Amino acid sequence: MALSHPRNPIRNDGRVESSASPSPTPALRITDLVKRYPTGTEALKGVSLEIPDGEFFGLLGPNGAGKSTLIHCSTGLASPTSGAIEIFGHNAVEDYREAREAVGLAPQDLNIDWFLTVEETLDFHGGYFGMSKKDRKERVSELLSAFSLEEKRNNRTRELSGGMKRRLILARALMHRPRLLILDEPTAGVDVELRLELWHYVRQINEEGTTILLTTHYLEEAEQLCSRIAFINGGQIIDQGTSGELAQRFGVGSLEDAYLELVGRKELSRAHVGGDAEADQ
Ligand code: ADP
Repeated sequence: MALSHPRNPIRNDGRVESSASPSPTPALRITDLVKRYPTGTEALKGVSLEIPDGEFFGLLGPNGAGKSTLIHCSTGLASPTSGAIEIFGHNAVEDYREAREAVGLAPQDLNIDWFLTVEETLDFHGGYFGMSKKDRKERVSELLSAFSLEEKRNNRTRELSGGMKRRLILARALMHRPRLLILDEPTAGVDVELRLELWHYVRQINEEGTTILLTTHYLEEAEQLCSRIAFINGGQIIDQGTSGELAQRFGVGSLEDAYLELVGRKELSRAHVGGDAEADQ
């Protein structure tokens, strides 16, 4: 059952078709992006970033670093002050419609209409993206099955458990078959079991060919899921690479220590505070 944009559909034997190769056009290309809010805050100070088709990319940075602003500019929720954003070659401002159709956003807050049913939530989203009634019907069934929400099809969203709400947010983001999925802190505040369940889904979505941009505060999550990670701080990309490359360039032994260097809190390193058991609490 395909969850996402089927560039590399999962075969009946469960393996991923690899015949279709990634597009040479990057999923996301950001060039010299500046965002100044009317308050005068310069949230992005000339950010450039390129995410190839098919990658699972992580964006890490402390609160106020500019992550949400970058996501909002990439999804049309905020307009850039200067610079360019292209999504699979579509300019996010000039070719707004094509660019927007290529992106699915699973926001951090559960921004669901609590009076709609599960099915209506997905169906209305598809309608917003101009999908035909027949296509919407098929896609809704596909997603309800893939995310184990079939039995809740006619329930109001407010009746769902926390885990089901998270699954619905993911399903809704995938409804119009976007080629780039943006996950804004998808596991913030969820228990371990649900976090692992969500990891399972997002890995599958990526294996099927959908590019993923993930922001998270959980370094372990970024390490487990992302092939490459960028550090952002003060509205600028500080460095990017695999977690091993980042640790090496920061001259430390782990992604966590590299992150602590980034935010100027290396005294918190587990190597300094007496080991994992204590620091885990
Ligand atoms: P992050 O998502 O990494 O926490 P944000 O992109 O939310 O960072 O914020 C970056 C900076 O922009 C912060 O200084 C924040 O206060 C500011 N900011 C964010 N949204 C707005 C807004 N709508 N108006 C004014 N300033 C904003």
